[in-house]
Amino acid sequence: MENVLDLTGKVALITGGSRGLGAQMARDYAKNGADVVVVSRNKEACEEVAHEVTQMNRRAIALSADVTKMRDIQSMLKTTIDEFGKLDILVNNAGANATNPVLEATEEEWDFIYNINLKALYFCSQQAAKVMIPQKSGKIINISSIGGSRAYRNIAAYGASKAAVMHLTRTFSNEWARYNILVNSIAPGLIATDINKDDLADPKVLDRMLKMIPLRRLGQPSDISAMALFLASDVSNYITGQTFIVDGGKSVE
Ligand code: NAD
Repeated sequence: MENVLDLTGKVALITGGSRGLGAQMARDYAKNGADVVVVSRNKEACEEVAHEVTQMNRRAIALSADVTKMRDIQSMLKTTIDEFGKLDILVNNAGANATNPVLEATEEEWDFIYNINLKALYFCSQQAAKVMIPQKSGKIINISSIGGSRAYRNIAAYGASKAAVMHLTRTFSNEWARYNILVNSIAPGLIATDINKDDLADPKVLDRMLKMIPLRRLGQPSDISAMALFLASDVSNYITGQTFIVDGGKSVE
């Protein structure tokens, strides 16, 4: 049977690909035929994911880059082009959170969140688009959050940064549609990864969270990766500028 999600011949770069959602995307993209560039600040962790990719007979490179730094972004794209000659899919997945009531938040936390969730995504997209424009094709997938559309307490700065991700997704899609660069985002709900493992280790917190999810389970990285695969594949070629919620129904409660 034909695989409508086939990515054979495509090159994907995933920021924050060393673990969590990004690592699962690297595996699932490779499983469906893509070559993958795995990026985070931790090269060793990226190498482990890249090794899994090569075990599936796809090519992979592991890169250490701090994507909040323009110099690192440019060098990561240069290495990608030197190695693979093109870039078809960029996933802006690297992100971070800080949980605090607004009254206790600090300037350092604000800068930390905005540098990784917004500045990095903005300039990674800009630099990737410069590669994709002459190719006349490309897909950019941004990872937002349901916290970007719901006003959850204690994550005000994070939520606002993820709302801006949805906005940039629309703006980029509008500016770059003429080059056949499609830009969409995914808004995950609560997914079991390192980003929230400390909070969810408390059974009372976990129980409270599960009661807020109609499907009564945490999301798994594969739930998000499935949407990232759909958006990377050719079946979604008439979709751009959109944000897709994947949250077990949490946002409808
Ligand atoms: P995670 O903490 O497990 O992974 C984050 C990744 O980003 C790591 O690989 C980390 O090394 C990388 N990273 C962070 N700062 C970086 C930098 N400056 N340069 C390069 N890499 C950097 O988290 P996750 O749960 O896999 O989250 C992935 C994305 O999904 C994030 O954008 C997060 O905001 C979003 N998200 C997660 C959830 C959830 O419940 N897990 C929910 C909504 C949105």
